[in-house]
Amino acid sequence: MNDIKEIISLMQNPTDKDVALVKKAYEFAQKAHADHTRNNGEPYFNHVFATAKNIAELGMGATTIAAGFLHDSVEDMKVTPEEIEKEFGNEILFLVEGVTKLGKIRYQGTERHNESLRKLFVAMSQDIRVLIIKLCDRLHNMQTLEHIPKEKRLRIAKETLEIYAPLAYRLGIKKLQRDLEDLAFAYVYPEDFEKIKKILKKKKEEVEEHLDKFQKNLKKELAKGGVTKFSMDYRVKSLYSLYKKLQRFKGDVEAIYDISALRIIVPEIADCYKVLGIIHGSWRPLPERIKDYIASPKLNGYRSIHTTIFTGDGGIVEVQIRTEEMHKEAEYGIASHISYKEGLRKKTTNPNLLWLRSILPRKRSEDLGIPSKSTDVPTWIKELVEYQKEAGEDFIDDIKTDFFEERIFVFTPKGDVIDLPKDSSVIDFAYAIHTDIGGHMAGAKVNGKFVAISTTLQNGDRVEIETKKSAKPSQKWLEHCKTTMAKRKISQGLGNKHPNL
Ligand code: MN
Repeated sequence: MNDIKEIISLMQNPTDKDVALVKKAYEFAQKAHADHTRNNGEPYFNHVFATAKNIAELGMGATTIAAGFLHDSVEDMKVTPEEIEKEFGNEILFLVEGVTKLGKIRYQGTERHNESLRKLFVAMSQDIRVLIIKLCDRLHNMQTLEHIPKEKRLRIAKETLEIYAPLAYRLGIKKLQRDLEDLAFAYVYPEDFEKIKKILKKKKEEVEEHLDKFQKNLKKELAKGGVTKFSMDYRVKSLYSLYKKLQRFKGDVEAIYDISALRIIVPEIADCYKVLGIIHGSWRPLPERIKDYIASPKLNGYRSIHTTIFTGDGGIVEVQIRTEEMHKEAEYGIASHISYKEGLRKKTTNPNLLWLRSILPRKRSEDLGIPSKSTDVPTWIKELVEYQKEAGEDFIDDIKTDFFEERIFVFTPKGDVIDLPKDSSVIDFAYAIHTDIGGHMAGAKVNGKFVAISTTLQNGDRVEIETKKSAKPSQKWLEHCKTTMAKRKISQGLGNKHPNL
């Protein structure tokens, strides 16, 4: 247990120096937490080991893994920041301090808690790896939540569902989002959780009846067709995403086809089509269910081929075909773009990776006077930091709407991507571009047609704002915008010194 080899084996082409750094952090943390136990009585080191392992599983490099080992050593133990800096340098110290909660004296209760979140946001706006460590730390805390005193559990689970899982989602790290959501779901909505678990179990059994035989036959057919390099796995929809989807489908389970799916991962794009050809040559597909997201990626950049086929013995199975690169992008998001040689971002071959384009820094942040030191930090995180400075006590509630709800992607006439919460209007768009554009908006076109500025935007819309020097915001606008950011700017434009939102 807690064997460092486990973590090293997860690292991608580590150098000797990388391995040495990770080992050193492992040993340092082991010593620092030697006499320290968690609520359930097990050694505290188990927690930092699990956190470091979660980080390695995302494909992050030695620096981030080392910081994962050290992330609780300053807060809980008698290790000083100076010691960390002396042993590991200031980069790792920055990451560790970013994750460390506030000192215990200055704040109390919720106030302290909110201030800790603010501090986290500020740190992650300078280095996104701080957030990745925090999410991996939270994942293990959720996995061991049953050992926390009951009255704290619900608060932690709610916060996970409302803040941390959406943060993972906005970074495109689906793997973390899924795990965090499912773990929190059980505590926040225990009855629904049990209900969904039953539905999923039944569905899984139905599919698995046919799956084994189908998988064997499929392997045979692939071999006949000359496809030898591939891996196959079977995934079941996560509990929380099924719960949300069922709400959209008004509880009709039979209408949801992708509850479980067989996944085939191959080296090249050409192999994807070859595999599709082999499958359709042997099994009949459901005509409406063939989707080529490689030729036409989803707006969020997702790429894969989906087809749903009759297995021939009464079963229906969805098959997803993709390359290794597509798979990593879909599962690990921004983490798959931070190279194992940290600091260099790998180039993606996916020109349509809109979510990535939308979260990476644009000129907009400089327009707003937000310093952009690191090039790897998404613009929206920097905006979030600016935003919370202006927002008051309720900033957590405000950012839930503006930053963590389901997103849509819309375009400027030049093709820049702006992502906004679902149900945003033209007004929200204008203020998201720039306060002056919102404040002097005179009219707008969506997809080339003149529309009312109260119009709700749809995913993929192209939006053009017309401004006039004399144009001013009106009270009515407040009723037609979604984001707190737009509401606040409009109120300021109307001369309300203390907008009551
Ligand atoms: Mn921790």
